[in-house]
Amino acid sequence: MTAPFKSNQVQNPDGKQGETLNLLRSTQLIIKEAVQKLGYKNEMYELLKEPVRALTVRIPVRMDNGTTKIFTGYRSQHNDAVGPTKGGVRFHPEVNEGEVKALSIWMSLKCGIANLPYGGGKGGIICDPRDMSFGELERLSRGYVRAISQIVGPTKDIPAPDVYTNSQIMAWMMDEYSCLREFDSPGFITGKPLVLGGSQGRETATARGVTICIEKAAKKKDIDLQGAGIVIQGFGNAGSFLAKFMHDLGAKVIGISDAYGALYDPEGLDIDYLLDRRDSFGTVTNLFTNIITNQELLEKECDILVPAAIANQITVQNAHRIKASIVVEAANGPTTLEATKILDEKGVLIVPDILASTGGVTVSYFEWVQNNQGYYWSEEEVAEKLRRVMVDSFETIYQTSRAHQVDMRLAAYMVGIRKTAEASHFRGWV
Ligand code: GLU
Repeated sequence: MTAPFKSNQVQNPDGKQGETLNLLRSTQLIIKEAVQKLGYKNEMYELLKEPVRALTVRIPVRMDNGTTKIFTGYRSQHNDAVGPTKGGVRFHPEVNEGEVKALSIWMSLKCGIANLPYGGGKGGIICDPRDMSFGELERLSRGYVRAISQIVGPTKDIPAPDVYTNSQIMAWMMDEYSCLREFDSPGFITGKPLVLGGSQGRETATARGVTICIEKAAKKKDIDLQGAGIVIQGFGNAGSFLAKFMHDLGAKVIGISDAYGALYDPEGLDIDYLLDRRDSFGTVTNLFTNIITNQELLEKECDILVPAAIANQITVQNAHRIKASIVVEAANGPTTLEATKILDEKGVLIVPDILASTGGVTVSYFEWVQNNQGYYWSEEEVAEKLRRVMVDSFETIYQTSRAHQVDMRLAAYMVGIRKTAEASHFRGWV
């Protein structure tokens, strides 16, 4: 029997690292429960609880001032029984091995939920791109690809954007990989600019997927989206497009935030103005004086709360004070295990991250398919295919949660892990 896990406790003395190791630990606890509920033996859990492959690299980069800085990067591949592994690369000062491993497991789950022919992968580099020049970022991106080139490729492991990485960084990485292999390799990476083989609708895909989940969840809770109050934490790729889509649907976006603070107005915010003024890292609150903290924003009155920033935002400390009746997780890991229980007991409908944020990897898959066949689809075609995947995924998980009397997160893990478990079994691994 596993000891109860206090997800908001820092178990390691070195602060952040402890918290994110907990991210891996809490993921393992739910995997264990899901594997048991599905009737697999403990060996299956032993296989799935850790990535099959994880690489740590050191990347020397010549900085603009002439010095050389050595960056640490990671690439984790959770399980490649279903197919090549797939998942983003994040550039962030708080990246660490435990976090990247947990995120690669979540990618397996997302691909299982959306029924994509992939296992999960994830990468990260410890750096702060907000303090780096364009040239430094290019050299770091190319250095990372050289460092991990032996374990990645269009039929091995396919990277994509994640926190603080974008289509320009994907373009540099694709170019570096193509140079190394000496042939054009658009299928090496997704989230590329359109002109280099990117897909229509990739940039807005995560937000579109979240929007579909919000529509479905609101129906289940009998909430009319017209005039419903929405709070979105984070104004990056997912948060900013989501604010626009919600606004266009007639909902009232009453709160948004970035890494430095938050804005809240029960009458509704001027979304067009905010979208126009945000910088490429999603920063916009620096233009205002009446800002509140991110933590204050989460506890504000609203119908639907969307954490679209970073992990561990809703914890035992604040879960009791969350007012929303629906929480849709656009970020990876924003709610701890204990907070999930508290919200569940309060009757809050949680749409978990591995379901809500699946739109991104789904359109990444469409991009890779288009690259492989060399034939490109219209925006409408992509949007329609994405809608079908999201609606089916939501319904399957909702019905699983009802049928097994479990919360939506455990239901999502059960649906997500099944394909990887079956493929591992058929291959004779377990
Ligand atoms: N980084 C995104 C995620 O966490 C997208 C991954 C991908 O497109 O492969 O789902």
